[in-house]
This record gives sequence, structure tokens and C-alpha cells, in this order.
Amino acid sequence: MLKGKTALVTGSTSGIGLGIARAFASVGADVALNGFGDPAGIEKLRSGIASEFEVKTVYIPADVSKPNETTAMVGRAEKELGHLDILVNNAGIQHVAKVQDFPPEKWEAIIAINLSSAFYATRAALPGMLKRDWGRIINIASTHGLVASAEKSAYVAAKHGVVGFTKAVALETARTGVTCNAICPGWVLTPLVQQQVDGRAKAGKTIEQAKLELLGEKTPSLEFVTPAQLGALAVFLCSEAAAQVRGAALTMDGGWTAQ
Ligand code: NAD
Repeated sequence: MLKGKTALVTGSTSGIGLGIARAFASVGADVALNGFGDPAGIEKLRSGIASEFEVKTVYIPADVSKPNETTAMVGRAEKELGHLDILVNNAGIQHVAKVQDFPPEKWEAIIAINLSSAFYATRAALPGMLKRDWGRIINIASTHGLVASAEKSAYVAAKHGVVGFTKAVALETARTGVTCNAICPGWVLTPLVQQQVDGRAKAGKTIEQAKLELLGEKTPSLEFVTPAQLGALAVFLCSEAAAQVRGAALTMDGGWTAQ
């Protein structure tokens, strides 16, 4: 379905980004990976996806908290893949603390990585997409782009910002072949969330109890969303059937935001 298309997924060395990169590759897209990790592990991921799905894969190291590295990353993806059709702004971090205790450097990092990087990457990728009159920009927001939780002020602010940014880009591109949408996942058991499970487990609970407690607070289904399910939604957004899905914030959250 995406044969001949190319995709750059930020933060795709782990978790949701990796699930989305794999989903694109599974339907024939060439993929640029980005994110942190040990070089040997990343090379194994890159070559594994290339051989499993018979697509071209490249790894582009860039710290997306830095605007110049983010802009250069998009340029490198265009050069190494020939052009760039699909951009997924996925890289993100979390920090949990009350506002009065929130370290300013954590606030700055969360805004830079979870919000501003989407602006810099989109700004760099749009001209090529508009020139070819086809493109898909998918921003991985969160249920926290729609509702809040205590002790996550920076994350909630950044993700609400991502949803707003998505709508503005969708309006600017509405009469073109480029669409921009956000995906709002609920709990996905990735390293980012495992950290929070481990934090709860330290207070004398088993890991299983901590997981159920985390799910029970927010998720009516009591089940995690998976990176593969989110990958399938991203693939749908890249299909022709989704050509008029514009400026949407699509939830996949086990019922979290239905409450
Ligand atoms: P993860 O920790 O498994 O993966 C994060 C990825 O981002 C990694 O590849 C990491 O190397 C990369 N990254 C972090 N900082 C970076 C930087 N400065 N430059 C480049 N890459 C960087 O996390 P995840 O759970 O897969 O999260 C991915 C996205 O999904 C995030 O935006 C997160 O906010 C969002 N999200 C996660 C959940 C969840 O429950 N896990 C729910 C909703 C939204």
C-alpha cells in the first residue's frame, strides 16, 4: 500500500515510534529511523526491519530537542530516501512532579522534545510535500492532549500544544494533498510507561498490581494499547481513504476520554 512512499519517524528506536516504523515498512514504505540507543542495537533494528520487509531503512541520529539537528534530520531523510512523504513526530519524554516541585530544566526539555520538535520538523518537511502535492504529517499526541492528569503539567501543556499545532497545520494545508493529524494514545506499555509502573511498584506492590492500578485509574478496558495497533492507525492515515481526515485528534485509549 505504501510502496514508493518514504517515512521519517522520530523517536523510533523504541516503543510506539518503532511500532509505527515497522507498520509502515510492513506495507512497503522506505523508513528513516531516529532516536537514542546503543549503536549496535539500533543497527540491529534497522537491518532487521530492512530484511524482514524488503524495504530501504536508514538511521538518522538527531537530538530533536535541538532545532538545528531536527531541521538537518529532515534534510538528511530527503537526501537518503530520495524525498519525504510521511513525517511522524513521535519522540517524547515524561516527568512526573507537582508544579511547585517541577524542575525548570525538565519543563524546558519536555516542551522542546514533545512540542517544539514537531514545529521544526514540520517546517522543514512541508515544502517538499507541498511541491509534490502529497504528504502525511502525523503527530503523536496523547490523551493528555485532550484531558489532564495531576503532576504532568509540562507533558499536558506540550500535548495540548501538539493538538492545537496539528489543527493549524491542517488548515494551512487543507486545499492540498498534504494532511496533518494527531493520534492520542492512552496507556501503552513502553519504557516511558514502564518507568511509571516501576515507580508505583517501589511502594511495595508487585509489577502486576502496579500495572492494574495504573490502568484502573484511567482506562475502562483495563488493557494497554499496543504499538502495533497504533502503527495500523498511522498506516490508515496514510491511505487514500484518509485523504479528508484533516486536523483530527484520533483517540486510541481503551475508553479513557469517553468518561
Ligand atoms: P519510549 O520512551 O519507548 O520512546 C521514546 C523514543 O523517543 C525513543 O526512541 C527515544 O530514543 C526517543 N527520544 C527521546 N528523546 C529524544 C530526543 N531528544 N531526540 C530524539 N529522540 C528522542 O516512549 P513511547 O511511550 O514510545 O512514546 C512515544 C510517544 O508517544 C511520545 O511522544 C509519548 O509522549 C507518546 N505517548 C506515549 C504513551 C504511552 O502510554 N507510552 C501514551 C500517549 C502518548
